[in-house]
Amino acid sequence: MIEDDAGRLVGRTLVSAASLRERVGVLGAQIAESYSDLTQPPLLISVLKGSTFFLADLMRAMSIDLNLDFMSISSYGSPGIVRILKDLETDVSGRDLLIVEDIVDTGLTLNYLRKTLRQRDPASLRTVTLLDKAARRIVPVEVEYKGFEIPDVFVVGYGLDFQGRYRNCPAILAVRDIARLANDPLVLVDQLYGKAR
Ligand code: 5GP
Repeated sequence: MIEDDAGRLVGRTLVSAASLRERVGVLGAQIAESYSDLTQPPLLISVLKGSTFFLADLMRAMSIDLNLDFMSISSYGSPGIVRILKDLETDVSGRDLLIVEDIVDTGLTLNYLRKTLRQRDPASLRTVTLLDKAARRIVPVEVEYKGFEIPDVFVVGYGLDFQGRYRNCPAILAVRDIARLANDPLVLVDQLYGKAR
């Protein structure tokens, strides 16, 4: 439980650091096993920036030969309209691709990504997401591997941010009062790291 000075609940731990470690370890081993027959290394595609913590831990749990590249995308304002800010440096034609996502919510972003990558003629295309908010899905989208299914709550930590903050929290926190956080974006900082401001 994370409370503000007035004792109001701001957030709570949804997935502990220990649970993340354990689940990501299992997931990494499972994915590595499913790629172990390939003649060429799979290419992991990480979507910046939220997936970086997950990516780093997942890769370490995959004891197979693999390659890595990054993409950065942003929403255009209207849902489903996505713009590529940074494209891949790798030619993905004929490659086995694994998109590494932090969270799938409405599915619009992943749907766009999968369509875009499929047009580049990869040998195969799969997705792993750490978190899945399945109840919020607007477009059906394939997700081959997932870490945790979570309820419809806003989460931060382990790479996920609120206005650029809280990525470095080692656990996943569910924000209880998003309006309170929007009003005072530092309220969780005070609780997590002490009064630094
Ligand atoms: P979708 O296109 O599936 O609706 O949204 C995917 C993106 O929305 C994620 O990659 C992430 O950037 C953002 N997002 C969705 N839900 C959350 C959440 O609970 N917390 C944070 N920090 N970002 C979220």
